[in-house]
Amino acid sequence: MSNNLVTVAYIAAIVLFILSLGGLSNQETAKRGNLYGIIGMALAIGATAFSAGVSNYTALIAVIVPGVVIGAFLASRVEMTEMPELVAVLHSFVGLAAVLVGIGNYLQPESGLVGAEETIHMIEIYVGVFIGAVTFTGSVVAFGKLKAIISSKPLTLPGRHLLNMGLLIGTVALGFVFMGAEGNAGLPALLGMCGLAGLLGMHLVAAIGGADMPVVISMLNSYSGWAAAAAGFMLSNDLLIVTGALVGSSGAILSIIMCQAMNRSFISVILGGFGQGAKSSGGSTAPGGSATSITVEETVELLNDASSVIITPGYGMAVAQAQHAVADITKILRDRGTTVRFGIHPVAGRLPGHMNVLLAEANVPYDIVLEMDEINEDFADTDVVLVIGANDTVNPSALDDPASPIAGMPVLEVWKAANVIVMKRSLSVGYAGVDNPLFYKDNSQMLFGDAKANVSAILAEMQKTAKILAMAGA
Ligand code: NDP
Repeated sequence: MSNNLVTVAYIAAIVLFILSLGGLSNQETAKRGNLYGIIGMALAIGATAFSAGVSNYTALIAVIVPGVVIGAFLASRVEMTEMPELVAVLHSFVGLAAVLVGIGNYLQPESGLVGAEETIHMIEIYVGVFIGAVTFTGSVVAFGKLKAIISSKPLTLPGRHLLNMGLLIGTVALGFVFMGAEGNAGLPALLGMCGLAGLLGMHLVAAIGGADMPVVISMLNSYSGWAAAAAGFMLSNDLLIVTGALVGSSGAILSIIMCQAMNRSFISVILGGFGQGAKSSGGSTAPGGSATSITVEETVELLNDASSVIITPGYGMAVAQAQHAVADITKILRDRGTTVRFGIHPVAGRLPGHMNVLLAEANVPYDIVLEMDEINEDFADTDVVLVIGANDTVNPSALDDPASPIAGMPVLEVWKAANVIVMKRSLSVGYAGVDNPLFYKDNSQMLFGDAKANVSAILAEMQKTAKILAMAGA
């Protein structure tokens, strides 16, 4: 393939990636956005594979075919609730790739660059390997936390900020050694820095508590983009530079949005909780009182008498896959004239937009699915709130208890409604590991059990009542 043709294909791929990002910003256009991304990536891989620089097709096929088969097999088996883990693993691959490209590039003897160009290339390699190593180990720790292999509690080593500072100073010092070395003599310094950067990545993510993990995921997404852009510079591949920059900047924007939604300082989170005091280490007071339980029949009675209902779903609804039965209940209530809306917390579930995707899959109309800011004022005028498998996102201690690890995070203020029914299996904590005083409030009642079993039982009871009413009317 001629260089001109490759350039045209690259430009087309870049346009498709931009259209893809635009499409993904809205539920109605998300499928189209995905399609643009797939076509853009196919075009990018095809153009690169057939470009003049590639000649060893045996090696290329030997790595691409098993990669495609393993990737397709694993991705097809991943549950929606496991998506963050998959994303973390994929970020770690990008980081590792940037490290390997950097080391390979350094060892490549015939770079042909001299003077300032050689210096810039060496800096590209050093910075690329640094970002790649931080991304790789940070993503592996994030995977461990999300998979619950590693505790979600923040690791607060004494003098942890000094440790980070020391690792950064070591990185800069080794950079001078690397830049001053002749030939391949800088390899030990490059590998040494790789080790320090790996430690830094591990430590930065380990220091972040469970409640801040959404920001970590989007932040690592951003890092992986910058790592890809750095690899693009090392390989002089314009498409990789632009694509990496798109991922890096969109990941950074998402991280800022997540931080705003959680009332966290972006800088503090990316520096591993720098500037946060006692609240990141836990230690809020356990709520007192006893929780009251409610039956399915009593729940249906409350719903029958309600004129306004808000449903706040969380991770438990996703695990139980209760969204279809929830959509059916919504339809019955709305057909009867009850106002039903959904309140979605920005970090509900385990990935950005998790609840919106599930509700869209169950055909819940978009116009009754509202963001936290749009609905928080309305809880006080609501008869019944159904909290389905949500916990941290409806925890009043975020607002009342300054010692809580989630203090300051805006939450859905469900307790302001006349009646709150919380559906979960026990009184246990959510992802952030924080007790929830909501369960013990006078207007809260617990409907214990699996969310799908309970929501299906409510649906069956409502359908039974509807049938009796219809027969009585006939
Ligand atoms: P939480 O994780 O706080 O709580 C979910 C609750 O669901 C649990 O307390 C659990 O209680 C219940 N549950 C689990 N399985 C079932 C089931 N089968 N049926 C009924 N209930 C069930 O959920 P939220 O959505 O409120 O909050 C999300 C949390 O995850 C936040 O802390 C957020 O920061 C974090 N996070 C979010 C990410 C994102 O991008 N959105 C990414 C990573 C983390 P029980 O065991 O008693 O049933």
